[in-house]
Amino acid sequence: MADNNEAIKKCRNNIEALLSQKGHAGLRETSYPSRSLNFLQRVNKRWPQRRPPFQAHCQPPPQEDLPLQAKVKLNIVVAGAGLGGLATAIALRRRGHAVTVFEKAPELGEVGAGIQVPPNSSRLLLKWGLGPYLGGKAIEPHAIRMRRWQNGEVLSLTKLLPDFRDRFGAPYYVVHRANLQLAMHKLALDLGVEVKVSSGVNRYDAETPSVGLEDGSVYQADLVVAADGIKSEARKVVLDGEDQPPKKAGFAAYRAMVDAEMMRGDPDVSWLLESPGQNLWLGDQRHVMTYTIAGGKSFNMVLSHPEDSDPATWNQATVIEDMKRHFEGWDPRRLVKVISMIRTTLKWPLLSGKCLRKWVSTSGKLLILGDAAHPMVPYMSEGAAMAVEDGAALAEILSLLDSKSQLHSALQIFERVRLLRAGQMQEASLVNGKLWHFADGPEQRARDEAMRPEVEEREFEESPNQWSDPVTAAWAYGYDAEEEVRKAFIENQSRNAKL
Ligand SMILES: Cc1cc2nc3c(=O)[nH]c(=O)nc-3n(C[C@H](O)[C@H](O)[C@H](O)COP(=O)(O)OP(=O)(O)OC[C@H]3O[C@@H](n4cnc5c(N)ncnc54)[C@H](O)[C@@H]3O)c2cc1C
Repeated sequence: MADNNEAIKKCRNNIEALLSQKGHAGLRETSYPSRSLNFLQRVNKRWPQRRPPFQAHCQPPPQEDLPLQAKVKLNIVVAGAGLGGLATAIALRRRGHAVTVFEKAPELGEVGAGIQVPPNSSRLLLKWGLGPYLGGKAIEPHAIRMRRWQNGEVLSLTKLLPDFRDRFGAPYYVVHRANLQLAMHKLALDLGVEVKVSSGVNRYDAETPSVGLEDGSVYQADLVVAADGIKSEARKVVLDGEDQPPKKAGFAAYRAMVDAEMMRGDPDVSWLLESPGQNLWLGDQRHVMTYTIAGGKSFNMVLSHPEDSDPATWNQATVIEDMKRHFEGWDPRRLVKVISMIRTTLKWPLLSGKCLRKWVSTSGKLLILGDAAHPMVPYMSEGAAMAVEDGAALAEILSLLDSKSQLHSALQIFERVRLLRAGQMQEASLVNGKLWHFADGPEQRARDEAMRPEVEEREFEESPNQWSDPVTAAWAYGYDAEEEVRKAFIENQSRNAKL
């Protein structure tokens, strides 16, 4: 327990430093297991060399035929049918709880285009039976390559297929967000979840607990789970009126899709479609992440750039020209050419929170999860994955209850475990924002040098590429969200038994 509090404190301080300091200042020893910053030792001696143990293989968890049914069946209301709310509803319903989801939008429709589903999330989704619902729409890329901003030279290589699948026992998918959300929605309905659209929650009562809807109706439950996104109203209630909203991270992203047909006609860029994979161009304060989605029909792009101004002042009329200006002089034959094919884009502010004081209300009957609890910059591609883990962990711990009277203490254990895990992912995401954005100079050269063994297919024990760094990857992708809360619950029970 004391260790957990210390780790949360360290994580919170690191996030504060990463958010408040410009450039690569603010980078410090990570609170999560990683060797990704060791290369900085070669630039600046103040960096301690860290050798956290390398867990070479993570055993995929045994496949269960039937999920453990909860002994205590609860009536649970979920606010929000985003990826977090749907994942939670599916996980809870599989264990036998009655679940109703209230979504304020008139229909489900994820904003943005592609989403990466790393193995720590896909392992859970597939175990829940999502595979057939995806209908072959999810692509399993072969590799992730980082490239130099100026000429597209390959700087790093993370082999996903078969390496990640073998090591982490699950695929690393990329998929259109709408395909993922619709698949999750259909699975939830087939399992017996009630999903009510045009049903915005405008009042959370943490005591009863209940939710009040915009049409004046009130729904009471045993537990209310708010997965109401980054602008969560429930967060304030959980935090007893003192909200801890996320902060601007100093970046915004242009999100866009390019028609793959258009790209196929140009040999300079058509190769990007040939072998499915992520290509990521890195440069001073900017990067561009790309991959193919929709069964190869669309090319997904996220173009991150520095931006501190108020989104209300952004001019949507000049957004394409502004975007092109940010990447002037970058890899002209490949990257700039694809950028010139973008016809519409959405500019999106990037925000990050830090470990909140709590996720569970003082009453123990209302909790937040997903972006409501842990908004993060998208640089680890783990925001939605954390929400899936949240849902899995919640369903697991509730399945261990012998009576309703244990609900509050079980939720406190859930909170302790998830707060640290998601906080460390917020930190790791900000760390990538530093590692990827070095201006040309000593840090950039040391980083590129340290990643070269990947490209030359030599053995390596550490890397500034957090997908490849064996210690970071084992922590991020080998994590079993159900196992971790189960362990914490059992430890707590045996501690109490000794008292
Ligand atoms: C550019 C970008 C790229 C990203 N890439 C990845 C990636 O590759 N992989 C990954 O894992 N994550 C990624 N993320 C993060 C991911 O998109 C989010 O973490 C995830 O979608 C959050 O899901 P959520 O359900 O918690 O919140 P949301 O998606 O915000 O859903 C909240 C839902 O609640 C509803 N709602 C809100 N208020 C109410 C109310 N009062 N009553 C009822 N309903 C309400 C909303 O309408 C919405 O449907 C990315 C994010 C960005 C910005």
